[in-house]
Amino acid sequence: MQKKPINKIVLVIILALFVPILTYTVYQFAESDENEQLIKSIYDRQLESILFSVNQYCWDIFSNWQSEMTGFAVSDAENFIQLHFEPKIANIVQDQQVVAGAFLRISEEYFVIAFEDSARQTIPRRRTLIQQVNNITAESSEKLNLLIQRAKEDYIKPLAAHWNYAGSDYTLLIFPILNPSFEPQGAIFGGLLIDNLQFIQEIVARRFSAMTEGEFIFAVQKKSERGFIYYSTEEKPSEPFEVRTDLWILPDLELKVKMAGTTLERMSRARSRKNLLLLAIVNIVFITGLVYVVYNVTKEMEIAKIKSNLVANLSHEIRTPVALIRMYAETLEMGRIMDESKKNKYYKTILAETVRLSQLINNMLDFSKIESRKKEYRLSPGDLSSLTLQVLDMYQHNFEQKNFSVTVEIEPRLAEVNMDSEAVTQALVNLLDNAMKYSADDKYIGVALKEQAEHVVLSVADHGIGIPGDEFKKIFQKFYRVGDSLVHNTKGSGLGLSLVEHIMNVHNGRVELISSVGHGSTFSLIFPKIQGV
Ligand code: ADP
Repeated sequence: MQKKPINKIVLVIILALFVPILTYTVYQFAESDENEQLIKSIYDRQLESILFSVNQYCWDIFSNWQSEMTGFAVSDAENFIQLHFEPKIANIVQDQQVVAGAFLRISEEYFVIAFEDSARQTIPRRRTLIQQVNNITAESSEKLNLLIQRAKEDYIKPLAAHWNYAGSDYTLLIFPILNPSFEPQGAIFGGLLIDNLQFIQEIVARRFSAMTEGEFIFAVQKKSERGFIYYSTEEKPSEPFEVRTDLWILPDLELKVKMAGTTLERMSRARSRKNLLLLAIVNIVFITGLVYVVYNVTKEMEIAKIKSNLVANLSHEIRTPVALIRMYAETLEMGRIMDESKKNKYYKTILAETVRLSQLINNMLDFSKIESRKKEYRLSPGDLSSLTLQVLDMYQHNFEQKNFSVTVEIEPRLAEVNMDSEAVTQALVNLLDNAMKYSADDKYIGVALKEQAEHVVLSVADHGIGIPGDEFKKIFQKFYRVGDSLVHNTKGSGLGLSLVEHIMNVHNGRVELISSVGHGSTFSLIFPKIQGV
């Protein structure tokens, strides 16, 4: 029955808060994944368009060279005199390490060639170049015929052939130049000898860095080999690259691009991790809150239950002595009792019950004062032995009535202690009351008052039901009662010992307990002696 309302609260919290938060979390994940995808595709497209534009730029440069060569070859078609042409071709190769050589192949034997003006050993000699070009034209005659056909449709495309000469990589770009007067096909071939590495450095890399302003890393790789022949960073970049493409003009090479510093994937992974962490924190905070709420609600409910039990218990505890007092007082008032000893017995019962009642009321008042922090104590030096004797005297009738045998052992000349007599009386009364309540057949109470080193110890022993070891601490908590059937058969509020402990704290002392189940308990109140006495 008790569990039901709390279950309801938890269910409401879960439905009202946890489910939305969880849904939001899942949604966030799905969403962030989608966003990552979108960002990635945008980036990829951006990278692709950069590469496309670089490729386009290279193609335009080639087209310029090609149309320049075509232009003068056609305009001077009737005059293929080496001397006349060579300077013009040399114009193209001049000052450019990119173009190591340019030539017109009029026939197998007849070449007009200009080489770059440098002493580089790696530039092929005239004979070698002619031989290489002739080999290629022979090998790829079909392809070249096709290019001639295309050129007639106004689409000029070069034949690109990779050539490693003396350790340097070149690309031979051979393209048709049309003129009906060219025998026998109406076409000759123009060609450019491109130094691959120079082309990358001078043209591709410059264009790339102008476009991207260092945001991206770019590298060039030979398709046939794994290593890079060029990269835009100081240190060799590590794979993976996000986008790659062939270089149109130098098809043996591949361009690769990625973001500088990090890859997109790593970036999105880091972001996902951050999101995950944030969501985890939110969820942890929420669960902690939930646990806290449940804990508090449970505690509040327990207190409410204890309070209602307390009211029931107390009213029961009050009713019995009040009924007794009333009964005896009425009988006495009627004046029918003549026997003095009987009268005396009635008076004693009334007194004993009043003592019990006032003790109960004191406990409750003190408890509520302590709770509202209004309880005040006045400590003054005093003698514990006279206080103890007084209390025992007050309880005498109670003991007799319940057939308790009481032994009292008080050391003579005890040191004084600082005490609030009223409070100490209350503590002792509580202990005596418990000793009586929690004793079964062996009705014994032993009260002792002794000095021990720096302390004066007031102990109350019984041969009662005893207390299990694991309950020693708990019984001093307010409202706590041992969950034993024997205990539950006796009336009580669970306040007595918590007051005793509180009182001892105020006296700078403590309570000690020795007990074994079935054999009895000894509660000792340990007071510090007044120093110097
Ligand atoms: P109450 O006696 O009103 O229940 P107390 O705070 O005085 O409340 O005691 C708390 C609990 O400690 C008791 O309910 C009982 O279980 C246990 N207890 C206290 N004194 C004794 C004792 N002398 N012998 C056995 N159990 C005891």
